[in-house]
Amino acid sequence: MSEFRRDPLSDHWVIIAPDRESRPRGSVRHPSADGCPFCPGHEADTPPQVAAYAADGRLITRGRWQVRVVPNKYPAVQDTLPARAATRDFFETRHGIGVHEVIIDCPDHWASLRQLSAHQAALVFRAYRDRLVHWREDPRLAYGQIFKNSGPGAGATLDHPHSQLIATPVVPTQVTSELVLSRRFFRRQGRCAFCVMLERELAAGIRVVAETDQFVVICPFASQFAYETWIVPKRHGSHFEFAEDGQIEGLAVQTQNVLRRLECLLNDPEFNYLIHTAPFRSQQLPHYHWHLEVFPRLAHIAGFEWSAGDYINSVAPEQAAEQLRNAWPAT
Ligand SMILES: [Zn+2]
Ligand SMILES: [Zn+2]
Ligand SMILES: [Zn+2]
Repeated sequence: MSEFRRDPLSDHWVIIAPDRESRPRGSVRHPSADGCPFCPGHEADTPPQVAAYAADGRLITRGRWQVRVVPNKYPAVQDTLPARAATRDFFETRHGIGVHEVIIDCPDHWASLRQLSAHQAALVFRAYRDRLVHWREDPRLAYGQIFKNSGPGAGATLDHPHSQLIATPVVPTQVTSELVLSRRFFRRQGRCAFCVMLERELAAGIRVVAETDQFVVICPFASQFAYETWIVPKRHGSHFEFAEDGQIEGLAVQTQNVLRRLECLLNDPEFNYLIHTAPFRSQQLPHYHWHLEVFPRLAHIAGFEWSAGDYINSVAPEQAAEQLRNAWPAT
């Protein structure tokens, strides 16, 4: 049974999840579909599916799926626990209520997101949106995190391409920090800090990797990691789950393109990406702006970073952006 604990000295939430101990250690490599619980034909090896999409985007309950959503077999949080009042003692705890789902990106065991058709990739992002739309109605939950771990060094334990959703009754520390600072900026300046950032980045150009009608792709000014890349919608919106179909399709294409550039430049690195969006219990916010962050996993976090919570990045984002702009796989 999981429990949220708030560190009284840092305000960070920790999920104590002893049940996760029983999951497979390291990466589980399946040389083929044999034994892979995410491959077609092995549906009985996962907990019962909560959603599946056919090639035409229809939700289906049986038959040939293109994207499939299942509860995580080793959840970090559980949705079967009764809601319990938080203890607001010096040692603050909350029940480890929540939802932990796996989004299986495609039936093909050896594909990766960047290799999928634009249509298939858009279906994956539509599944992200649909799951957030679904869970934001649950009064126990405050936030839904969408993320992908790709490669064992990035935390993936299965190599079949998949993404994850963890929805929790607390708003993650990182997002809280972005919300607090962007609200403060809005109060002072009357504008969204992300919208201002896009204007400034487009004017300067040096950290812009790509620009479309809908999105700006940048290596942010204070990138914590080498080749960290953000995809930010041009049109202001605080909630990813309110994005319309055209934006979802555009985001899928831009994410694939970033991954293709990284593959070309850095020989297919392990990576994480995540979507930062506003909490469920708010409607459209004028100060917050959803975005997707990609982190190639090139270096281990070392003593300085653990100690400081601040990072040393050995590749200037201006240099990273220039290299990524010019990196494109030969066809
Ligand atoms: Zn598989
Ligand atoms: Zn904005
Ligand atoms: Zn963010």
